[in-house]
Amino acid sequence: MSEFAADGLPPLREVIAKHGLAAKKSLGQNFLLDLNLTAKIARAAGRLDDVEVFEVGPGPGGLTRALLSAGAKRVIAVERDERCLEALAEIAAHWPDRLTVIEGDALKVDPAEHLSGPAKIVANLPYNIGTELLVRWIGGDEWPPFWLSATLMFQKEVAERIAAKPDTKAYGRLAVLAQWRSTVEIPFTVSPHAFTPPPKVTSAIVRLTPRPAPLAPADRATLERVTAAAFNQRRKMLRQSLKAMGGDPRPHLEKADIAEERRAETLSIEEFCALARSYRAG
Ligand code: SAM
Repeated sequence: MSEFAADGLPPLREVIAKHGLAAKKSLGQNFLLDLNLTAKIARAAGRLDDVEVFEVGPGPGGLTRALLSAGAKRVIAVERDERCLEALAEIAAHWPDRLTVIEGDALKVDPAEHLSGPAKIVANLPYNIGTELLVRWIGGDEWPPFWLSATLMFQKEVAERIAAKPDTKAYGRLAVLAQWRSTVEIPFTVSPHAFTPPPKVTSAIVRLTPRPAPLAPADRATLERVTAAAFNQRRKMLRQSLKAMGGDPRPHLEKADIAEERRAETLSIEEFCALARSYRAG
């Protein structure tokens, strides 16, 4: 038996060996075993002592332990792999009344049912459902949403698409929809070597903070439709790509004060909102 880690629990390698947690690719399992790195991720989420934290995919519990050590009032963690539950139960026993583990698919769990108020989301997301979860969290009807901030690990390329600015290759629908109602930062990137097993690509932490009010007024569903039409044919001029909205796009482009020759990737979020308002008005 090796020495205990700073939080008084066994080192993660030992936890993984004891519970037979060989990583499964099908569950997007790339574990973080370096407690200095998980502590750094927890710090990127800011103060935790006065909030609940919602974590998706705690796995063997490296990030969960960092969140608890950082003083999180309570962590509510959803894990699909039942092999991890015993290891997580040991963490829960070490931090009485501060960790609740929900066994299940995060796509089927409603966080609001388990939280007592606004929470911070912190997660090293399984890459196969990360974008889908993000789209849900940024896409709700209620704003501000149930989360106060979301500090999330993504593949770097996805992180760049979330944080992208106009006139860049990475700028698209995800950037517009994320930044319309949240500020987005990338505090740091993480090398593949930090994970067990190492993924093929570099990862990055993305931090989203909901804006009190959207950047510009727009109906969400219309904005989603306009950005889908515009970016589905991102090389085409808007007078062509927006035909997918039905009807002639030119009156809407004129009303939004946007030249009809422009392409989707040149539009600011405010300009997309102006277009959405025109389409919504009919
Ligand atoms: N948090 C751990 C860490 O940082 O080492 C593990 C992160 S690993 C990238 C992703 C975790 O999400 C795995 O533990 C995996 O079992 C879990 N997972 C995969 N699909 C899930 C789902 N649909 N719902 C909940 N958890 C899921």
